[in-house]
Amino acid sequence: MERIRLCKMEANAYEHPEDRETLKVLKGFSCFESIIKSFMDWNGVKADYVVRKASNFHVTKETCPELNQLMDDAISILNIDDVPRVYLEWGYNINGYTWGYRDTTMMVLNTGVIDLMDDMEQTFVIGHELGHIKSKHVIYHTLAKVLTSSISNIPIIGSVPELFVLALTRWSRMSEFTADRAGLLACQDVNAALRAIIKMSGVPHKYFDKINVESFLKEAESLQKDLSFTDKAFEKVLNAVYNDHPWVLIRALELKKWVDSGEYEQILNEYKAIRCPVCGHYTIKSTTVCPKCDTSFNL
Ligand SMILES: [Zn+2]
Ligand SMILES: [Zn+2]
Repeated sequence: MERIRLCKMEANAYEHPEDRETLKVLKGFSCFESIIKSFMDWNGVKADYVVRKASNFHVTKETCPELNQLMDDAISILNIDDVPRVYLEWGYNINGYTWGYRDTTMMVLNTGVIDLMDDMEQTFVIGHELGHIKSKHVIYHTLAKVLTSSISNIPIIGSVPELFVLALTRWSRMSEFTADRAGLLACQDVNAALRAIIKMSGVPHKYFDKINVESFLKEAESLQKDLSFTDKAFEKVLNAVYNDHPWVLIRALELKKWVDSGEYEQILNEYKAIRCPVCGHYTIKSTTVCPKCDTSFNL
């Protein structure tokens, strides 16, 4: 399937409102700037980055040409400026993450993403991670992972208020909805996107052929009713205890709702790029002259 190449699309065109709202709450903490600054200055993040770089398999045109091509395509479609270095980490849970400090970002995909997913499902995962980069989530995500992990001896941890950590983990979960939208914009295949999320929920390899998107979504709908997100006290407990839970059912449901709302199609139409028939350069559809070779599109 030929995918639509997008042009001049900013992340705020598709960001999930809950991502925006919870980030506003997080940035409203008076300690926000100082925590981020001391975290960026903390050598532990740099050390961890170096260790990950030294331990994982680097994806390049030479080492993994097919995966590298999927990556290049997704980077072009989503108009990503901060191109990350990409690594593979051994592990058969289907997962990926971005990790970074200062201006340096890496994307790490588990081996399971490559071995257990088809090209468009992989593209969904890649697009999801690129979405975190495009929305500048990486440093906050890295902080959330460090604060909720077993990495010890963090000099700033004593000064991080518990409420800040709760707000950070809540935002972190909501930011997944935005990244899923980027994943879908990259693969442009709703079924592949939903299948990818469903596979993350723990479907064994031998049942991949039996994945039923509709019944999964039905289960997600009843779960969302049960969870009653209006119950703030309950949600606080969920946030505190299960902050790292992937929430895959809710993610699938939120993505489907976005597609059904028509917003997804609208974005594809609005940011669809046109290709110069002479030099192949992509540009915004309102342009009448190719900015690269001066060919007039009206001729
Ligand atoms: Zn994510
Ligand atoms: Zn041209």
